[in-house]
Amino acid sequence: MSFKLTVLGSGSALPTSDKYPTAHVLNVHERFFLIDCGEGTQIQLRKYHINISKIRHVFISHLHGDHFYGLIGLISTRNLLGISSDLHIYAHSDIKTLLDPQINFLKGDLGFKILFHPLNFKATQIIYSDKKVEVISFPLRHSIPVCGFLFREKQSLPNLRKDLISQLDIPIRCRQAIKEGSGFTDDKGCFHDHAELTIPPPSPRSYAFCTDTTPFMPALEIFRGASLLYHEATFQSDMEIWAAKTFHSTAQQAGIIARMAGVKQLLIGHFSNRYESDEGFLTEARREFPETYQAREGKTYKIEIK
Ligand SMILES: [Zn+2]
Ligand SMILES: [Zn+2]
Repeated sequence: MSFKLTVLGSGSALPTSDKYPTAHVLNVHERFFLIDCGEGTQIQLRKYHINISKIRHVFISHLHGDHFYGLIGLISTRNLLGISSDLHIYAHSDIKTLLDPQINFLKGDLGFKILFHPLNFKATQIIYSDKKVEVISFPLRHSIPVCGFLFREKQSLPNLRKDLISQLDIPIRCRQAIKEGSGFTDDKGCFHDHAELTIPPPSPRSYAFCTDTTPFMPALEIFRGASLLYHEATFQSDMEIWAAKTFHSTAQQAGIIARMAGVKQLLIGHFSNRYESDEGFLTEARREFPETYQAREGKTYKIEIK
């Protein structure tokens, strides 16, 4: 079962020749979630061979241009390609006001429905849920309302022990009930309880996305222990005061957040264009949290089952 993240953009607000603005694609069990949609996202999707028709859910953290200016282009291309599946957009309610005039202009031809899901910027909320996955939005702190997102597999049922299924000749009709907690009495009248007959399921995998934000402690409890945390690191420590003024974080602060939240791995991005090299970001964050990686365009990060 897949759980992998592809970074399409690692830059921040101002364009550079080597970085795109923020956009991530998370593939969870073949559901493709697009998280933020900076300018050029559709070009990056093409470049890294991610089929646009698979994107049906888009999550926009906040309404600064570097996080959503790619959306109207994506909508228009979806239309040109004749994609008919609904498109769900989870964002600030103002996104509708911003997009509607442009969508209305296309409307005669728009061959799919757009469903807007307004985010709540004051409280944690489950915004998507199906059999295997749920997505939770939670407030962060920036110069305008912003949400982080937690993508989490649902806990699966335990697996049956194959050796005991054949040894005790457990009928198919009894197996689901055992998975759900029942025991089983064999031919000889001997009772076997649920724990004996099953193997615990793997721990659910999760991905937390936090941008743009100052270090925001209340959010830690939402993504505590996450398999992978993406945290913005717009600046390095030399700009810590400026980072606070502009409601961003430094790479060191991202490392501290990852350590305090007990996540397994940290990915940093949203790098300011004022630094000539990216090396300092990684060095700084790794001093606080060694399992840190740098977001790079086109790189895929797989989260394995443990
Ligand atoms: Zn930004
Ligand atoms: Zn911003």
